[in-house]
Amino acid sequence: MMMAFFRTATRMGIDAILPPRCGGCGTITDSPHAVCADCWAGLRFISAPQCACCGYPFELDQGDDIGNVGHAHDDAGQLLCARCLQKKPSFDLARAALVYDDFSRDYLLRFKHADRGDLTPLLARWVYQAGQGIWDHADVIIPVPLHRRRLLARRYNQSGLLASRLSSMTGVPWDGLVLKRKKHTRSLGGLGPSSRKREVGGAFEIDENRAARSGLSGTRVVLIDDVLTTGATVNACVRTLKQSGVMHVSVITVARVVR
Ligand SMILES: [Zn+2]
Ligand SMILES: [Zn+2]
Repeated sequence: MMMAFFRTATRMGIDAILPPRCGGCGTITDSPHAVCADCWAGLRFISAPQCACCGYPFELDQGDDIGNVGHAHDDAGQLLCARCLQKKPSFDLARAALVYDDFSRDYLLRFKHADRGDLTPLLARWVYQAGQGIWDHADVIIPVPLHRRRLLARRYNQSGLLASRLSSMTGVPWDGLVLKRKKHTRSLGGLGPSSRKREVGGAFEIDENRAARSGLSGTRVVLIDDVLTTGATVNACVRTLKQSGVMHVSVITVARVVR
């Protein structure tokens, strides 16, 4: 069907249409917004069994040296990782499409810094799949916001692009303005868990007028970010949302650190 489309396009003299390219390495592929077989083989998608709360994968591909963290059933019969058993995170649920490694990092850096907004449909599809079972019960999709200074430098918020795309895929409305970053935080790369927590503490705020108009209180929110690392950033967002009466927050990211 795609080829027919290109033949038609060529016949019509539209030569501005380029063949679809792999979202990873850039080689020409059969279909748009896809990755080639080599790139596909390099990506590590997260699947069950995983922690019912944070989504930590218990079994990774053979030959993986990451090893398992301990896990057990809680009183409600849910399979939880050792960390969530010990202390429940601020969010209610977290899911990620990919393990954060050299390969997925490469995608995300290009998506974030290299003006590769065209990767949005590909990454959104993965995030959509990672959030299966969540979309049907969601009231609003909210991206982790950038500070306006960083937004100016980068020209777009990568999480906002994903949120907008996911909104049209799911029919769940998105709001990129109700949660704001009031503090210009340093890059968290290279900071340990406690420094990260300190750096993002109090960094977010709710636009209360907007929240009142849209009826944010009592809703179920899906919070979108690119990577879940220590959870410091999303936990700060979740605390801010819940202080405004949000009932339930599911965090869905493109990738997550697994260790
Ligand atoms: Zn490729
Ligand atoms: Zn967990």
